[in-house]
Amino acid sequence: MPDPAEVRSRTAILTRGFEPRLSLGSARPAVFRSSTYVFESPEEAEHAFAVVHGHAAAEPNERAALIYSRISHPNAEILEDHLVPLEPGATDALAFNSGMAAIMTAFFTFARPASTIVYTMPLYGGTTALIHTFLEPCGVRGIPVTAGDTKGIAEAIRAAEDPCIVLIETPANPTMIMTDIRSAAEAAHRHPSKPLVMVDNTFLGPVFQHPLKLGADLVLYSATKYLSGFSDLVAGAAISNDPAPIQRMRSRRTMFGNILQPDECWMLDGRLPTVGLRMNRQSKNAQRIAERLARGASVARVIYPSLLDDPEQRRIYSEQCDYPGGIFSLDFHAGKPAAFEFLRRLRIAKNAVSLGGVETLACHPRSTTHSGDSPAELDRAGVTEGLVRVSVGIEDWRDLLADFEQALQPE
Ligand SMILES: *Cc1c(COP(=O)(O)O)cnc(C)c1O
Repeated sequence: MPDPAEVRSRTAILTRGFEPRLSLGSARPAVFRSSTYVFESPEEAEHAFAVVHGHAAAEPNERAALIYSRISHPNAEILEDHLVPLEPGATDALAFNSGMAAIMTAFFTFARPASTIVYTMPLYGGTTALIHTFLEPCGVRGIPVTAGDTKGIAEAIRAAEDPCIVLIETPANPTMIMTDIRSAAEAAHRHPSKPLVMVDNTFLGPVFQHPLKLGADLVLYSATKYLSGFSDLVAGAAISNDPAPIQRMRSRRTMFGNILQPDECWMLDGRLPTVGLRMNRQSKNAQRIAERLARGASVARVIYPSLLDDPEQRRIYSEQCDYPGGIFSLDFHAGKPAAFEFLRRLRIAKNAVSLGGVETLACHPRSTTHSGDSPAELDRAGVTEGLVRVSVGIEDWRDLLADFEQALQPE
């Protein structure tokens, strides 16, 4: 086998982390659904538990023994070994049974009472709810900062009292506002409390945006979206360039019981070699469609990273992202009735929440994905009544463009 350190990510994902010898020689991984694993001897069992509890050090190059599938199992290990080369700079990864499970486990590993969490606004709705419903009652004060406000975020971090976490979601959902990861990470690393910098990289990662290279400590994913890519499974991931935070999260995952199950690990693992192909096609499709709609459409503003006009937003985009990605939004001047009419008229794109699948989906965030946020929060974040979010799939872009154009035509 080639040394994984010497090959590029697209090769590594097909050559590292899976030994056919351990699966009766099968070329692709088998599914190991066992809940428990047999030891060679009682001494081996004793040593395995001592290593898991941190009472004994593992031998150099020793893999943690398999014990029980809530702790880990072969399909999680194979998947985690394949997530690492996808994220430039990464050394360690963990699989979770949803994106929310990854975010929740990160929060409950690194938050401490009487500390603060600085986060960009808007965040994914479930994450905002988690901060308000669980972190704040546990004594962790939330400090929201408007996405894209580079100076404001650095200042909020500097002034924060004992920050434990800085959480950035960029581009913001569904307004596509970019936040400067490097600048926030520098501010965080200067703070004496050394807050952990987490980036929810679901929208542009792992192909077009690389937070660990920009100073982030932990990258979080809803693997339900681009990583899995077919809108048929729910999963999450946490990836770092430091084994220590991953090790701490691993022990929490064992307590919480939110590891991804073997079948889902196997399915997701099989999707990873094509995530770059799919995301490249989705980004090319979205760019062709968004730029043409922006030229032609007078009824709605098209929001897309390659169409940003604010100079600071353009700077962040050009320094931080390789390509604009597969998601754009339309902001209808005539508000909700126009947005709903557009959704009703679509023939190829389906009206559904979620994103990142091979099929094109469209939704009205204010009445669906973001309906849990207060109207004041939504207004501040730019989630208007007229906003429709589109996740572009891998269909032929000309058919999609024609579908959007006919849906934009007034009767
Ligand atoms: C979907 C999503 C999540 C939550 O992930 P689940 O897999 O649904 O739990 C978190 N963050 C972002 C940006 C998302 O799009």
